[in-house]
Amino acid sequence: MRVGIFGGTFDPIHVGHLRAAEEVRELFSLNRIYFVPACIPPHKRDQQISRIDDRLMMAGLAVKGNRFFKVSDIEAKRDGISYSIDTITAIEGTFGDVYFLIGADAFSEIDTWHRYRDLFSHADFVVMVRPGHSGISGLAMFPPDVRESMKAVDECTFEHTSGKHTYLQPITQLDVSATKIRAHAGEGKSIKYLVPPAVETYIVKQGLYRRQKTNHIGKNMESIQGKMWKS
Ligand code: ATP
Repeated sequence: MRVGIFGGTFDPIHVGHLRAAEEVRELFSLNRIYFVPACIPPHKRDQQISRIDDRLMMAGLAVKGNRFFKVSDIEAKRDGISYSIDTITAIEGTFGDVYFLIGADAFSEIDTWHRYRDLFSHADFVVMVRPGHSGISGLAMFPPDVRESMKAVDECTFEHTSGKHTYLQPITQLDVSATKIRAHAGEGKSIKYLVPPAVETYIVKQGLYRRQKTNHIGKNMESIQGKMWKS
């Protein structure tokens, strides 16, 4: 069983995540990819994020109909901050090969992750980059204290002394981000085609990311409008 683990905040999951995962699944002949929403993402502790239940629900709706894609609530069920090393060590031994999917932007900050050195000896990494990627290449992409345990097999493959590999994988990186989607939804703009239709419906129905509209004297326009409709 070859399994991909794709961790993230997924607030919300979007077509960029899904397309990237689909390409990695095919290229690495993975039997399954688990999307793992982080309950308390360590890097977003100072940001307001949606409830884990909503993020899990949206991920579930997004993967419906793709037999290779599943959602895991492993980090939702664990108390405290969601560290990837805890997730990887928890599933170790359950599957044959575990590939940890990560975007180039997240990888470039890997030295800020909890026990980041250990990650490289517990899982194979697939670092998803834009075709013709710039900025991230060669052994220099690893933090110095990881670099010394890595050797370059070829331009895109690196081997750790543990035998685990890190692959630099060009994929179609759609210019979509959850930040952009939250902003659109907050302004009442369309998010159609940025997220799967079921996720769009969920966001609209639940009123996720809707900003409180205020007028120039600071009155809450939504509550005023709400009252008008009701009366
Ligand atoms: P935000 O805009 O809120 O920071 P995001 O869109 O980057 O969110 P995350 O849930 O933070 O989404 O990202 C999870 C993982 O998906 C990270 O490894 C990130 O690099 C990767 N990722 C994000 N957007 C894309 C995209 N458009 N294509 C491929 N990978 C992506």
